[in-house]
Amino acid sequence: MNKMNELYLEKYSRQIIMDKIGIEGQKRISNASISIVGCGGLGTSAAQYLSMSGVGCLNLIDDDFIVLSNLNRQTLFTEKDIGKNKSKILSKKIKEINGTSKITSNDQKITSENIHKFLKNGSIILDCTDNFKSRLIINKFCHQNKRILVSAALQNFDIQAFILASWKGEKNPCYKCIFPNLRNDNNNSCDEMGIIASVAGLGGIIQANLALNYILKLNSNFKELILFDCMNFELKKITIKKNKSCEICNE
Ligand SMILES: [Zn+2]
Repeated sequence: MNKMNELYLEKYSRQIIMDKIGIEGQKRISNASISIVGCGGLGTSAAQYLSMSGVGCLNLIDDDFIVLSNLNRQTLFTEKDIGKNKSKILSKKIKEINGTSKITSNDQKITSENIHKFLKNGSIILDCTDNFKSRLIINKFCHQNKRILVSAALQNFDIQAFILASWKGEKNPCYKCIFPNLRNDNNNSCDEMGIIASVAGLGGIIQANLALNYILKLNSNFKELILFDCMNFELKKITIKKNKSCEICNE
C-alpha cells in the first residue's frame, strides 16, 4: 500500500503496535469506507474518532444547519460555524484531522427515493440521525443492500447502541425487528428529551468503536443491544432476536 510510508507508520504507531491490529489491521482501517448519516451529536463524535483512527473514506450526510444550541455537544462546530450546513463544516474539519483520507459531504435529506444515490459506496453505515423516519429508511436500505448498520440513540444519561447485519445469517435481527411498532410516518425526534455533552460524545465513540471492531474482524455481535447508563455507569447487553413477522427481514 503506497500510504505505508514513514509518516503513516508514525501517525498510527499506537494502533499498529497492538496485537489485534498490526499493519494488516491498519490497512483494513485505511481501506474502509463508511457513511455517516446525521452530523449532529453522534455523527460529529463518530466522524472525529473514525478519522483519527485512519479510516480512508468517509461520506457525511446532513441537510441541517448549525445553530447555537448544537454547540454543547456537537464536537468540532464553533460559534463562527452557526448558520452553515453541518455536513460541509464537518467535512472541512475532518480534512484538517486527516488530510490523506477521502471525505465527501452531502447537504440533502435522506429519503426512500434518494438513499441509493448517497449510500451506494461503502459497506458500513452509521445511523446518527435523530428521527425514526430516517432510521427506518436507512434500516431498509441496509437490509436490502447488504450493508452493516451501526446505530445509536441518546436520551438524557442513557445510550443505546448496536451493530446489525440482518441480511447475514437467518437469525440476525434488523432495526424494525427490535422496534416493530415504529412507523414510517413517525417523524418524532429522538433527542428532544435533552442530552448532556459528554453522553452525546460517548454515543458517537461507541458507534465508531463498533465499526472499527467490525473492520478489524474482532468481536462483532449482530444480536446484541448495548445499554449504557452514564449516570450510574451500568452497562447492560441484551440479546435481541429476529422478529419472524418483520416486514423488512422477511420480504
Ligand atoms: Zn427485521
